[in-house]
Amino acid sequence: MKIIEINEFTYLKKSKIHNNGVFASKFIPKGTRLMEYTGELVSKEEGTKRCDLSHAEHKKNPNKGAIYIFDIDEENDLDGDTPDNYAKFINHSCETNCEYEQEGKKIFVQSTKDINKDEELTINYGFTWGEEDYFEHPCKCGSKNCVGYILDEDDWPKLKEHLKKKKQN
Ligand SMILES: [Zn+2]
Repeated sequence: MKIIEINEFTYLKKSKIHNNGVFASKFIPKGTRLMEYTGELVSKEEGTKRCDLSHAEHKKNPNKGAIYIFDIDEENDLDGDTPDNYAKFINHSCETNCEYEQEGKKIFVQSTKDINKDEELTINYGFTWGEEDYFEHPCKCGSKNCVGYILDEDDWPKLKEHLKKKKQN
């Protein structure tokens, strides 16, 4: 795949982590707003329905059914599975240099570290812990502290506890 320029900060190209990734086209200082995570604002009910559908699809084929649904507030979800949402290509990692920032009903991507030119942008997808389904999203970020699965950092202790118990049994 060829390189696609996204905006003044970033470009899209094949990633070692997973499929396509987003890379810095120049040095990016910590705390820079890089792009909006655009999408379709849907009702909670519709968001849940789409989430369940993606989940079922992913179970059948792990290369499909990626989940781009964001919990916005009590009324709305944001479905980022739209062609103009380049932020959805930012890969998950256990060692990130970006984070999502919510402002009203909008989501933005912001750098949390200085990022060098041609470095890949990474973010935590914030998947919550579930004993029945955590293993459906293995992490291949390659960082030395990789926990093995795509999971919100707040839930890492739950995962570690679970894996420890599993080992003992
Ligand atoms: Zn990882």
